[in-house]
Amino acid sequence: MSGEITRFAPSPTGLLHLGHVLAAEVAWREARRSGGTFLLRLEDIDTGRCRETFATALEEDLKWMGYAWPVPVWRQSGRMPVYAAALGRLRGMDLLYPCFCTRQEIAAAVSAPQGPEGPVYPGTCRHLTTVERRERLASGAGCAWRLDAERALARTGTLTWHDRLQGGFRVSMEALGDVVLARRDIPVSYHLAVTVDDAAQGVTLVTRGRDLLAATHAHRLLQALLDLPVPQWLHHELVCDEAGRRLAKRDGARSLRHLRDDTGWSPAYIRRAIGAQLPS
Ligand code: GLU
Repeated sequence: MSGEITRFAPSPTGLLHLGHVLAAEVAWREARRSGGTFLLRLEDIDTGRCRETFATALEEDLKWMGYAWPVPVWRQSGRMPVYAAALGRLRGMDLLYPCFCTRQEIAAAVSAPQGPEGPVYPGTCRHLTTVERRERLASGAGCAWRLDAERALARTGTLTWHDRLQGGFRVSMEALGDVVLARRDIPVSYHLAVTVDDAAQGVTLVTRGRDLLAATHAHRLLQALLDLPVPQWLHHELVCDEAGRRLAKRDGARSLRHLRDDTGWSPAYIRRAIGAQLPS
């Protein structure tokens, strides 16, 4: 296949580390080797955590690494009406329900097994009656909106998706449960925004770390419900620290800036450092 459109889609909530560079490098290489286009997208829906200084820093760091992308850079924070329209469609299909549970309530529910995104939602609010829902909404109680995964899958029938490294998957929402599509504090969630935007930007190959493999089941389901084109996926290895844990901003993983300014690493040296994790 030629002319892949790929993207690197960081959230500007901190400085980039080697894990981000690996994700950017994979997207960049797949676009380059097929004569396609590499896109940069800022996933900045969480306005409370995103900072303009990090957006500026990450663009500088990516340019220093030698990547280039079309401008203007796509920003999710400016696309809330588009996500609202997608939510409206799903609501019109009667596939969403309001969830009033707090994180603590969900974590405390005895029946909640751990999934890749935390405890799998036990479905408490799925069982509220229409009247109960109306009353709680009218009382001004804050709520998230969840996708009724079982009902959604019953509507779409069997779905499959393809990962370039791991082959074919059949959509199963067992590990994720009824994912949140609009958060209590933000009118959209990662799952919905990423799915809508990958389609809107014409992304043909979604590259990202293996830690997000489970999320792809939800994205494939949303594509089917919203009549969006189906890309291919490539879930790559992760960069880990000495203890074997995935690098994360919140754990103070050493930033690219630090490696450049304080340790003197060059882009070529950085590429060698992540080389073993690159798909061949
Ligand atoms: N903003 C997401 C992250 O930083 C992007 C994940 C994806 O590529 O879908 O993890």
